[in-house]
Amino acid sequence: MKNFIASLRLQKDNPKFLVAQFKALSSQIPILYVLLVINALAVAITHIKSAPLWLSLYIPVGLSIVCIFRLCWWEINGKENVTPERALRLMKGTLAGAVILTIGFGGWAIALYQYGDASQQGQIAYFLVVTGISCVFCLTHLPLAATITTVITFTAMVITFLFSGNPVFVATAVSGLFLVLPFLRVINSYFQNFARLVLLTDELQQKQAEAEELNLVNSRNALHDQLTGLANRRSFFLSLERMLQQNPSSPPVIGIVDLDGFKPVNDVFGHAAGDLVLKETARRFVSLVGERGIVARLGGDEFGIIFPSDLTLRAVSELGLGLCAAVRDPYEIPDGSVRVSGSCGIVYPEAGEYTAEDLYEKADFALYQVKSKRTGGVEFFSPEHEKILTQRYLIELELQTDNFARELKLEYQPIIELRSDRVVGFEALARWDSARFGRISPDAFIPAAERTAVIGRMTRILLGQALDALKIMPAHLRVSFNLSARDICDHETSMALLAMVTRSGVDPRRIEFEITETALLSDFDTADKVIGVLRAAGISIALDDFGTGYSSLSHIHRLAFDKLKIDKAFVMNFDRDARCMNITRSVANLCQNLGIASVAEGVESGEVAESLKGLGVRLAQGYHFSRPLPLEMAIDYAAKRNAAVSQSIPA
Ligand code: C2E
Ligand code: CA
Ligand code: CA
Repeated sequence: MKNFIASLRLQKDNPKFLVAQFKALSSQIPILYVLLVINALAVAITHIKSAPLWLSLYIPVGLSIVCIFRLCWWEINGKENVTPERALRLMKGTLAGAVILTIGFGGWAIALYQYGDASQQGQIAYFLVVTGISCVFCLTHLPLAATITTVITFTAMVITFLFSGNPVFVATAVSGLFLVLPFLRVINSYFQNFARLVLLTDELQQKQAEAEELNLVNSRNALHDQLTGLANRRSFFLSLERMLQQNPSSPPVIGIVDLDGFKPVNDVFGHAAGDLVLKETARRFVSLVGERGIVARLGGDEFGIIFPSDLTLRAVSELGLGLCAAVRDPYEIPDGSVRVSGSCGIVYPEAGEYTAEDLYEKADFALYQVKSKRTGGVEFFSPEHEKILTQRYLIELELQTDNFARELKLEYQPIIELRSDRVVGFEALARWDSARFGRISPDAFIPAAERTAVIGRMTRILLGQALDALKIMPAHLRVSFNLSARDICDHETSMALLAMVTRSGVDPRRIEFEITETALLSDFDTADKVIGVLRAAGISIALDDFGTGYSSLSHIHRLAFDKLKIDKAFVMNFDRDARCMNITRSVANLCQNLGIASVAEGVESGEVAESLKGLGVRLAQGYHFSRPLPLEMAIDYAAKRNAAVSQSIPA
């Protein structure tokens, strides 16, 4: 009942509903007029002879003209989009129209009733009930109009028939009386369903709009870098692929710019400052490259540039230099200003078939070359680079074969205790004498093995050889074995290595694993855990190449190392460069203070060995003592050297 009363009111505060209501109504009302006109004219025709002309003809014709006029109006105006205010106004008009027409047609039919015989009166009854009900159905979207029409029609019908004296009509009137309530109920439930439908449709539309909005944001995020607003890596490659597809004969010129010195900005001034630098770099690049090229952020501090297609080699080179120069301008951050620099690798491809990855790899390789020179600036991908890359590719293929596993060997470089001059162990160094390519340096095949995930298998093969070697070496000699970042940062691999050691029966205290700081950086927490487990098993851990990488004291502090290896870059320049000497001295002191051993590598002369001894460095290795040797020769070397030392010590 409450619902019903509420539905009679026009919902002024619900604009969407008003519009929906009006639209639904406008599709029904024309039917209402057609019904009224046809049925009224049918009644008029049958009464034309029995009733006065004004009643049988003029009034229905007049009312019909009004109906036709309204019908045309609805046909023209009902289909247009209305504002909620106009919908409200028009529905109020419809309400008034419904009352007027109901009274008009109802009154006319009742007035006509007295002029007809029984069958004509039956027709009037039919007109009142059936036409009335049909009209009410056409008005269900406007419940107040439907209710008023019902009440007027039924009241007129009931009163007229009740007093007609005709028992059939009286019975019809009584049953009609009982019809009103169920009828109003039907109208109400129909309207409630309609209201629910409008609500649901509205919710659905809202959800759809939200989903579309989300889609838009997602597709923007999928193709744009959120920080700088530039195209992201995915978008960069998609654009490249599209260009290569559209114009395969003229591949685009692309460059990769990498910021030098960005990490310290992030570390020292925080990520917010780092973000400012990246955003400002993006802005500078876009203003340099302009609309005709594409600037993308490929990740971190790496930017990709697709150069405008009409640039000459010289113009590209100038633009590349311009990008590097733009990066050198100071950056304003809240704490002051910072400076970074940039390196740029460019591929200016000759006509030919390329994939997006080919081009990227070439530009990246050129970038790698310029970065390794540490001079900054621009480097173009050259035919020499092509040769190196091809060889790299061939090596990567060969690494996957059984030849590699078979050809892989270890050589052993003696490690000397400076105080006693004795060999205390060896560093095991990987050697690959390929039947196809000849000897390949570990500096070439180890990174390749890391790239192609062959490294795990390689380490296991080599460790197997090292363990076998330890079994035939005198028990006082130890072996230092190099692990790659991939080995130490993978819990499973390192546990598999530990299991190999345990299974071999070799005393774990005779084994040392050498790891670099770069290895630690890739996953410090895993490395930390793995080191703990290995040390608990008796294996000692040396930090290799100390001084070349990140060289953070916090690493030495946080991780328990047994040894620091001073990189050969310092030791080799020891007698020429005072800084190298100072660094070596500091590291030796640091080790003494921490109570751990220091190892100098790259000792190439007796003088250097003497100086190192003077600085308190405990162990040394290098060409001065011996180059890396095959196993038997290494064992022989140790036996001879240690015997000679023993002899020279006076009894
Ligand atoms: P590293 O661990 O720093 O090894 C020392 C490198 O210095 C070796 O180069 C060694 O031959 C060389 N060397 C030794 N004494 C001297 C010297 O007096 N002067 C000069 N100029 N060089 C000297 P190598 O054997 O070419 O190894 C290069 C790098 O490859 C190694 O550097 C190590 O990082 C990696 N590596 C070698 N073997 C393995 C291995 O079995 N596994 C892993 N993961 N890496 C290995
Ligand atoms: Ca090493
Ligand atoms: Ca080293």
